[in-house]
Amino acid sequence: MDFTPILAAIFLTIAAWFAWRYFKLRRDVDEYASRLRGQNLETDIKELENLSSAIASIVALRNTEYAALDAERARLAAVLEQMTDGVLIADAQGIIQFANPAAGRLFQTSQPLHRRITEIIRHHQLVEAWRRCQQTRQLQSETVEVPTRHQYLQLVVVPDQNSSGTLLLAQDLTRIRRLETVRRDFISNLSHELRTPLASLKALTETLQDGALDDPPAARRFIDQIQIEVDALSQMVTELLELSRIESGRLSLDLQPVSPSDLLTSACKRMKLQAERAGLTLRVECPQDLPRVMVDSQRLEQVLVNLIHNAVKFTKPGGEVVLGGEAGPGEVRFAVRDTGIGIPADEIPRIFERFYRVEKSRAGSGTGLGLSIARHIVEAHKGKIWAESMEGQGSTFYFTIPL
Ligand code: ADP
Repeated sequence: MDFTPILAAIFLTIAAWFAWRYFKLRRDVDEYASRLRGQNLETDIKELENLSSAIASIVALRNTEYAALDAERARLAAVLEQMTDGVLIADAQGIIQFANPAAGRLFQTSQPLHRRITEIIRHHQLVEAWRRCQQTRQLQSETVEVPTRHQYLQLVVVPDQNSSGTLLLAQDLTRIRRLETVRRDFISNLSHELRTPLASLKALTETLQDGALDDPPAARRFIDQIQIEVDALSQMVTELLELSRIESGRLSLDLQPVSPSDLLTSACKRMKLQAERAGLTLRVECPQDLPRVMVDSQRLEQVLVNLIHNAVKFTKPGGEVVLGGEAGPGEVRFAVRDTGIGIPADEIPRIFERFYRVEKSRAGSGTGLGLSIARHIVEAHKGKIWAESMEGQGSTFYFTIPL
C-alpha cells in the first residue's frame, strides 16, 4: 500500500496547524504591542497616578487628624495637670489607672498609679461611696472632714460608661468651709456687739420713762450715757461700712507722692491731745529725707490713727508712744511703738481679724474692727502689717509701703 498520500496529507495538516498557531501568536503579540503602544497604557498610568494621589491625600488627611488629636490630647493633659480638683480613674477592681497631680496632693500620696483605691483615699466613707458606685453604677457623692489633715474633702464617683471602672473627682472644700465659718462668726459677733449697746439704750430710756425724767440731774446723766452708747453704735456702723467697702474691693485710692515724715507728723498732731489726756508722750522719730511713698495720705493717716488710738488705749499713764519710719529694701517701714500692756504671743496672729479683741474686759470701748481696717488699707497699698509684742512691756505695730 502506498502511504505517501496519507503522509503528505498528515504533513500538510501539521504544517497548516503550525502556520495557524504562528499567525495567531503574531496577531496576539501585535495586539498586545499596539495596546502597549497605544491609548490603553496611558489610561493605566493615569489610573495609577490618580490612585497614588488619592492615597497621598488620605495620608495627609490622616496626618492632620493625628496632629489635631495630639493637640487635643496635649490640651487635655495640660488641663488635668493644672486642675486644682483631683481626678482619678480606677478599673473594675479598684486599681488606679490614671491620677492627675492634684489627686496626689489631695490624698497626700506621691505615686497613686496602679495602687488600690482603698490605699489612696484612706477614708471609709469615701471608699464606701466608690463601692456604692461600683455596685449601682450610679453617681455617688460624699463630703467628709479629714481631721488629721484639717481638710474637708468632697468626692464624686461617676461610673465609666466605656468600661466597668469609675471616674473619681475630689475637691478640697476647706477654704469654702472656712469662709462659711467666718461669715457665721461675723453675723454672730455682730449681733452680739449690737445687743450690748442696744440693751443699755433700752434700759436707759425705760429708766427715764419710769420717772427719771422728773429728776433733771439724773436725767442729764442718763442722756449723756445714751449719747455715749449712740456714738459707739454709730462708730461701729461707720467702721462696718468702711470695712465692707474695703473688702468688696470698692476702695479707690487717691495715690500721691508723700513724705513719710509728713505723714507721721500729721497723724501725731491729730492724736496729740488724746495722748496727753491719757498722760502719755507721743512723738515722731523719723528721718526727714526718706524717699516719698505713693499713698492715699488720708487712708494711711487713718491706719496710723487706728494704731496710735490702740497704743494710747492700752498704755498706762506715764508711758510713751513713738511713731517711727525707716527705709528698707524697696520699701519704707512705719512703726507705732508703745510701752503698754502688750499682747499675749498666741493672740498676736488673730488681732487683725474682724471683731477680735484680746480680752473684752481690758479693752473698755472698741469694736475690734480698727486693726482689720488698717490691714485692708495697707494691703490695698500692696504693703504688709504685723505686730510684735511682749506682755507687760509694750507692743510695736509695723507696716510697710513698697516704693
Ligand atoms: P479695738 O477697737 O478693740 O481696739 P482693734 O482691731 O483695733 O480693735 O484691736 C484688736 C485687739 O488687739 C484689741 O482689742 C486689743 O486687745 C489688741 N491690741 C491692739 N493694739 C494693741 C496695743 N497697742 N497694745 C495692746 N493690745 C492691743
